[in-house]
Amino acid sequence: MEPLLDRLGRPLETLRVSITDRCNFRCVYCMPKEVFGRDYAFLERSQLLTLEEIARVVAIFAGLGVRTVRITGGEPLVRRNVEHLVELLAAIETPQSDGLELALTTNGSLLVEKAEALAAAGLSRVTVSLDSLHDEAFRELNDVDFPVQRVLEGIDAAATAGLPVKINAVVKRGANDGDVLALAEHFRGTGHVLRFIEYMDVGSTNGWRLEDVVSAEEIVQRISERWAIEPVASERPDATARRWRYLDGTGEIGVVASVTKPFCGGCSRARLSAEGQLYTCLFGARGHDLREPLRAGASDEELCERLRAIWTRRTDRYSELRTAETASLRKVEMSYIGG
Ligand code: SAM
Repeated sequence: MEPLLDRLGRPLETLRVSITDRCNFRCVYCMPKEVFGRDYAFLERSQLLTLEEIARVVAIFAGLGVRTVRITGGEPLVRRNVEHLVELLAAIETPQSDGLELALTTNGSLLVEKAEALAAAGLSRVTVSLDSLHDEAFRELNDVDFPVQRVLEGIDAAATAGLPVKINAVVKRGANDGDVLALAEHFRGTGHVLRFIEYMDVGSTNGWRLEDVVSAEEIVQRISERWAIEPVASERPDATARRWRYLDGTGEIGVVASVTKPFCGGCSRARLSAEGQLYTCLFGARGHDLREPLRAGASDEELCERLRAIWTRRTDRYSELRTAETASLRKVEMSYIGG
């Protein structure tokens, strides 16, 4: 099958699907309480794509070449019946008949309850966001006083259920940059890959400043001063993380340098919001509405044509063009479109 290419020659391979804009955490850099408080207008149930509508769109994407689907949010595990969605997605036929790779990004708070059902439903792997191991600091970061121990238990539950686990830690200067070595120490030798993410200027509610970014280079430097590491070649041209391996064989870490070493050139990701807006960039200002044609009775062929038209016109490369001015522009919120 010929890959579907955008204007910059990038194939469509991955779809990230946000299934809710709600979250049970209020991480201070993502959903600050002052903005996402009691009066915040979250999407109504009728505005959300149903699980069946999501599965239909994903199946059409699979026909266009998408191989990996990442379920995200908001917090995807707060959406009722997420296990059923995984079942629906796992049943989707792909042109190569090998099925979709199904990943899920979560804050881990509900994994103890849900890991087994998710694995049984056909989930391939899970990524858990965890920015600090220090209980007090973690409770302050999530701003709902959620204990770190419960997330660690969730990670164990996922591993016990047979799900490969990756850990994502966003590093923000002055907030948790002192936790980098403790995180690395904790996950060395566990089989879980730890990835550090540069703090990004997503959305427009987190008051992002370039000074708050701890560069991937600095993170790697700090780790290499403690343990011997060497770079590992990426397996996929569209990989987001640069990989490093501990020379003592205790595993590897990754760094996602979206700010200091943008990787738009290999970006093969489309993003679907919980209400059916398709974004072709994490830093997009506007989406393309798929819910309207879906609910107006469009055929699979018509929807497919619409997706094809959107992708083949795509020129986004926000991170490569980032300036102080663009960083302050209005962009889609991370909690709406997902990581
Ligand atoms: N609730 C799920 C979770 O916690 O993984 C999925 C959605 S959350 C928006 C996805 C990821 O985005 C989390 O790892 C979060 O830390 C990350 N994130 C949010 N705001 C960010 C920012 N400004 N820069 C970098 N990563 C960010």
